[in-house]
Amino acid sequence: MITIKTPEAIDLMRQAGAVVASVFDAIRPMMKEGVTTDVIDHIAHEVILEAGAIPSFLGYDGQGPTPFPAATCISIDEEVVHGFPSAERVLRDGMIVSVDVGAYLNGYHGDAARTFIIGQVPDRIRELVEVTEQAFWKGIEQAVPGNRLGDISAAIQDHCESHGFGVIRELSGHGIGTELHESPNVPNYGRKSRGIRLVAGMTLAVEPMVTLGSREVIIADNDWTFETRDGLPASHYENTFAITEDGPVVLTMHAGGL
Ligand code: MG
Repeated sequence: MITIKTPEAIDLMRQAGAVVASVFDAIRPMMKEGVTTDVIDHIAHEVILEAGAIPSFLGYDGQGPTPFPAATCISIDEEVVHGFPSAERVLRDGMIVSVDVGAYLNGYHGDAARTFIIGQVPDRIRELVEVTEQAFWKGIEQAVPGNRLGDISAAIQDHCESHGFGVIRELSGHGIGTELHESPNVPNYGRKSRGIRLVAGMTLAVEPMVTLGSREVIIADNDWTFETRDGLPASHYENTFAITEDGPVVLTMHAGGL
């Protein structure tokens, strides 16, 4: 069932989303060579708790045989999503690193991801990261009342594939609200004018997951982390947003900010 949020509920979600935005403010300066991914996770966890929120992902039960073990998912290079932060993983020049953050506040979740470039990467990998973010914006341009879900999906797919990148099929965006994952699923591929009709009050997390090479993925031995089968890098970008009569409103960014 798709839940339609009142303007009051969307305001509460904006507060949860602001916590997520603050996490990115705090970790952005730490995304550099020599930092371990568990340090980044600890900073994120602190920011979430200090805001009076709870990390949405820690203890999340829903994929592997064990709950997710950290506040954030940190996924490096060929890891697509659901990477485990670790004291053993050190950021190095040339890596791309996706950090996925969820915060639960006032009974609602906010969920967003950014891919950070560490030092210098080849132009084509920088393009992968940029196109993934652009694909998110192309997608939510279509998130207006009266359009259909497939309009979002097709816009994302078209943008990524027109640049020669792969769009992962096994993972999707999702509805979000009192639950981290609600209906509907929002695939990053699809056909225009297909799927459910979009209405004001829907809140979605749209998250293109895009590969440099083949779009095939495998699940790592930890039963959580998705990786590209060919070992080439993947990029990820996500925001939570609300569909309103005036168009989409992003909830996981500060007004006018990053
Ligand atoms: Mg998500």
